[in-house]
Amino acid sequence: MTIIIFVLTLWYGGLFFQSFFLHRYAAHQVFTMSKKMERITFILTWIFQGSSYLSAYGYGIMHRMHHAYTDTENDPHSPSYDGSLFAMMWKTKTVYQQINNQKIAVAPHFTPVSYTHLTLPTNREV
Ligand SMILES: [Zn+2]
Repeated sequence: MTIIIFVLTLWYGGLFFQSFFLHRYAAHQVFTMSKKMERITFILTWIFQGSSYLSAYGYGIMHRMHHAYTDTENDPHSPSYDGSLFAMMWKTKTVYQQINNQKIAVAPHFTPVSYTHLTLPTNREV
């Protein structure tokens, strides 16, 4: 029973921090947080998501690109222009890593001014 509770806690905690921190905060900036709360939330996201953790910086930019280019050739994760689900997932991973490693130029409107004060580490810094 303890294991089931542990797994369910990680599962739903990971979902919560994906939605709350990565999607609403990092990608859409629906709300603001103090630097202290941002760091606490980052650490909780890292703990709950474990090996599937995504950098808030990389996810935020990639998700903004997804919304801007939904179902076009420039969408970083759309099944419309990839041959298979695997190809789409591979492309998503590649674009995400390129953003995090600053290997591709990102248009300024995908890195809003408010991102310049974010202190969120990328995967390389974790
Ligand atoms: Zn969204």
